[in-house]
Amino acid sequence: QATIQSTTQTPYPDWKAGSPVPYAALCTTFSLIELTTKRLQITAYCSQFLQQVLRLTPDDLLPTVQLMLNKLAADYAGIELGIGESLIMKAIGESSGRSLAVIKDDHRKIGDLGLVAAKSKSKQGQMFKPKPLTVKGVHQGLLEIAKMEGHGSQDQKVKAINKILASADVSSTSKTVDITKDKGGPSEAKFIVRFLEGKLRLGLAERTVIVALAQAVVTYEASKKGKVSSTDQLAKGEAALKTVYSELPSYEVIIPAMLEYGIFNLHESCKLQPGVPLKPMLAKPTKSISEVLDRFEGKDFTCEYKYDGERAQIHYVAPEEQSKFPAAKDNLNKNPMSTKGLAAVFSRNSEDLSKKYPDILEKLNTWIKPETTSFVLDCEAVAWDPKAEKVLPFQQLMTRKRKDVKTQDITVKVCVFAFDFLFYNGEALVNKTLRERRELLHEAFTPVKGEFQFAQYGDTRDIEEIQTLLDESVKASCEGLMVKMLDTEESGYEPSKRSRNWLKVKKDYLSGVGDSIDLVVVGGYYGKGKRTNWYGAFMLACYNSKTQNFETVCNIGTGFSESILEELHDQLQDIVIERPKPFYSHSSVTAHQPDVWFEPKYVWEVKTADLTLSPRYRAAIDEIGQGISLRFPRFIQRRDDKKPEDATTSGAIVEMYKKQEVVNKANAGKGVDD
Ligand code: ATP
Repeated sequence: QATIQSTTQTPYPDWKAGSPVPYAALCTTFSLIELTTKRLQITAYCSQFLQQVLRLTPDDLLPTVQLMLNKLAADYAGIELGIGESLIMKAIGESSGRSLAVIKDDHRKIGDLGLVAAKSKSKQGQMFKPKPLTVKGVHQGLLEIAKMEGHGSQDQKVKAINKILASADVSSTSKTVDITKDKGGPSEAKFIVRFLEGKLRLGLAERTVIVALAQAVVTYEASKKGKVSSTDQLAKGEAALKTVYSELPSYEVIIPAMLEYGIFNLHESCKLQPGVPLKPMLAKPTKSISEVLDRFEGKDFTCEYKYDGERAQIHYVAPEEQSKFPAAKDNLNKNPMSTKGLAAVFSRNSEDLSKKYPDILEKLNTWIKPETTSFVLDCEAVAWDPKAEKVLPFQQLMTRKRKDVKTQDITVKVCVFAFDFLFYNGEALVNKTLRERRELLHEAFTPVKGEFQFAQYGDTRDIEEIQTLLDESVKASCEGLMVKMLDTEESGYEPSKRSRNWLKVKKDYLSGVGDSIDLVVVGGYYGKGKRTNWYGAFMLACYNSKTQNFETVCNIGTGFSESILEELHDQLQDIVIERPKPFYSHSSVTAHQPDVWFEPKYVWEVKTADLTLSPRYRAAIDEIGQGISLRFPRFIQRRDDKKPEDATTSGAIVEMYKKQEVVNKANAGKGVDD
């Protein structure tokens, strides 16, 4: 009920209509959220705060939402803070006049740098009172820090953080923060530091903020007319915002449009368009072809080869169409071949990969038919051996540099395998069926062997034919098949969703749990014997998207060659931290601690024999009561194309575990021969 009431009180004394949103007001809301785990309550707190912003300072709605999301800009802007623990400790020390040794000692005892910052501020005397922080000011300050690069930028960053922290908690510095009682309370310093670390630790998932934003707008609009919004209107508002956001994930575009035209008219001004990458549709794993047949029973589906490369989303606008797509001008690059057309290659995380794939952009025009004037293409960039005329494994592709690649220096060639078409000549295609999208895709391009090809497919329901396709895909160096709904509205493109309408069947699905698992390396063990110079084993964690914690799931010491161990050691020794992050969920038993802890940065793909319950690990403990763990995990490869938050989720691990249990039960009682 709290969510649908409009609020008219001002929660913070210095916040007047038209004046900037005080950062302290946002932190008060954060600290309320921190005290609950109930999603509805969290949504209500957010929504009420956003209503206040709409009523008093609507111009600050965008930075407020961004600070709630721990984001400074859309992903494609490529703005990342990337600030390590040591820099933050230095800034806390300098801004509060405490020595680095004392800060480090506090960190060892308290374990949360946010709380260390809060404590440091509460101990600090103040000669004069700086101006209180505002939401806009903090957002701007952090953005400037993120953009600092090059020689001397580390010192500049410390100074800039120091400056923000010096103005933090101006109104509450006299209070001593009791960090054991109230989690540090609404301390501004605490939330600034947590923002810098990349985790506010509020359990504030993006979908919660989107729901809260929709509720706030609908409720506020109704209250202006003296009305209370109905549940139906709230639901419609949420659905409208979610759909628009999934097709155009840019608060920078959506929020101003929503303020101008209202939430229910958003879809007219905010549409999928070249220049704003959308999050790709993802697939669910399966363990057998019969599972696929059960799922798609009676429906037409298609089996595409599953290429083993890097997901790529290519955007293009021809010169004559540029005026129609303002985002394209800002976010796409000049296409070197056409001299006038705009194009870019985006990753699965919406990062701009154009500097990694200049060869794709240079050749793009030779694949586009003359009548194709704008598009968004979903495809896989795969390493290609031009002599043998076949695809190469993913590892080959990962040896390619990520930035500033010059076409003449490229040794690993790529071939683009196109499998979906999201926008074509001014029209979004996501609501069309896959059959229709595929037809348009084949219409729009001219394939060139070894450069641009359509994903190979077969449309059949026959189990033997599917098995043959699977075998052929493996012979063609693919990972297996992607089986997709072909007709009906279920075959529409679902951005950012791991959907049951796309199933992946990997060649080795019969062994293990049906899929490999992508995990974040959080700890390391010093090697023994031959491995003494490097880490010899590691602790891995999955990602809990609800709590935003990394939950330990196994130790791993198998599958590493000596050269990879050396490479990993070089990478990891730069991100050693003194103690586990407060958002790591791990056993507290001394014997279960790794020798060193790492920042959450790298994702590795591993295989496992099966999943089991274990008191030593924490994966999915909230849901199952005990941690789930991987048995006989084996390292496969680094997944540098994934961020820690893209790691396999605890939810997915639970799904795999339960599926395996069903299979185990079904097999129980069968003889050994079975
Ligand atoms: P996920 O993308 O599911 O998180 P992942 O990146 O580890 O997991 P896989 O599970 O191996 O990848 O499979 C999905 C990926 O397969 C897609 O994201 C895409 O990059 C790739 N892919 C290759 N061929 C196709 C195809 N024909 N259709 C869709 N995706 C394909």
